[in-house]
Amino acid sequence: MKIVKVTVSRDICIGSATCVVMAPDAFELDSEGISVVKTDALKVDQETLLNAAKSCPVQAIHVFDEDGTRIFPA
Ligand code: SF4
Repeated sequence: MKIVKVTVSRDICIGSATCVVMAPDAFELDSEGISVVKTDALKVDQETLLNAAKSCPVQAIHVFDEDGTRIFPA
């Protein structure tokens, strides 16, 4: 399993910043207080990315593997 894509759904994100705390190199809040995926997010280790996605209270972070399969939420 290799994470090749991480997305944040702007419509779902409530700006709790949990992901920013969990993986500050992968996520940041934009000027509207919504999480965005940082340019080098995929350089962050996979466990940290996955844990950040799992920590999101509204499951706004989606993680995909190289087959295009959504790893989380499953
Ligand atoms: S943890 Fe989820 S709701 Fe909170 S800022 Fe990140 S994406 Fe948005």
